[in-house]
Amino acid sequence: MNSNEDTSQKIGGRPEKNIWKHFIKGNEKTPGRYEATCKACAKYWTRGKLVVIEEHLANHCIYTESSVIREYLNITANRNKDDDNQKK
Ligand SMILES: [Zn+2]
Repeated sequence: MNSNEDTSQKIGGRPEKNIWKHFIKGNEKTPGRYEATCKACAKYWTRGKLVVIEEHLANHCIYTESSVIREYLNITANRNKDDDNQKK
């Protein structure tokens, strides 16, 4: 396996491509919006934005592993912090 690219989870860029481990990627319908099917629960989007399907994993998908849910809860929570830039 060629794992040079992502052996470590470096923070810095959003790991947007990892989202496609959890979804079946279809055609790009409009820029940034893809046909997507959740591999866990088979929910289907005709034009899924990455933020929407990430939030599906974080909040809505009851069939996804809890470790994955936590990962995407962090991602969506960090994004929401852009507004409210305070750390605890
Ligand atoms: Zn799902």
